[in-house]
Amino acid sequence: MALQSLAEYEVLAEAAHGHLCAGQILGLRMALCGVKLLGIDDPADAGRKRLVTFVEIDRCVTDAIPVVTGCRPGKRTLKFRDFGKVAATFCDLRENRAVRVVARESARQRAREMHPEIESRNQQQMRAYREMPDHELFDIQWVRVAIAPEDLPGYKAPRVVCAQCGEAINFKREVLRDRRTLCRACAGERYYDPL
Ligand SMILES: [Zn+2]
Ligand SMILES: [Zn+2]
Repeated sequence: MALQSLAEYEVLAEAAHGHLCAGQILGLRMALCGVKLLGIDDPADAGRKRLVTFVEIDRCVTDAIPVVTGCRPGKRTLKFRDFGKVAATFCDLRENRAVRVVARESARQRAREMHPEIESRNQQQMRAYREMPDHELFDIQWVRVAIAPEDLPGYKAPRVVCAQCGEAINFKREVLRDRRTLCRACAGERYYDPL
């Protein structure tokens, strides 16, 4: 499937996300900008084997990115780095190049200038984010991303078992502590407390 129009993607994004919002428009534009810069015009189809996306925030905008790119956590092609930034990096594995697209802080102000007649901030931004050229919406930087083999789609290796909790660990996420193989939770990164 070739790239579709923004309006067509909006329908898909609304269905996936539950509502249409400024974040959806921004995320769709961000992904379209990224894949076009990489020259991938069929990201959800043949191009899907080429593309890995890193997102830097978990918000509305995040849900819109897979709608264009086809990248998903379950395919190991959507990576979350919790930096709290409205930014994403699109990596072309075939051509070994990557581009990082960052939403410009000034875009909100620009939306106010473009559509002062629209009272709702969300509606105002939705409208403006449809109309603004890429260079007003985004800062763009070409970057290098080193993706370890165990982070790539299709990586296969035997699972190991944590010496402490006995749970299985995939993708080389185990750590060696005092010559014991531990999961990251048992090694001190646990985010939960057993009751
Ligand atoms: Zn939303
Ligand atoms: Zn463990």
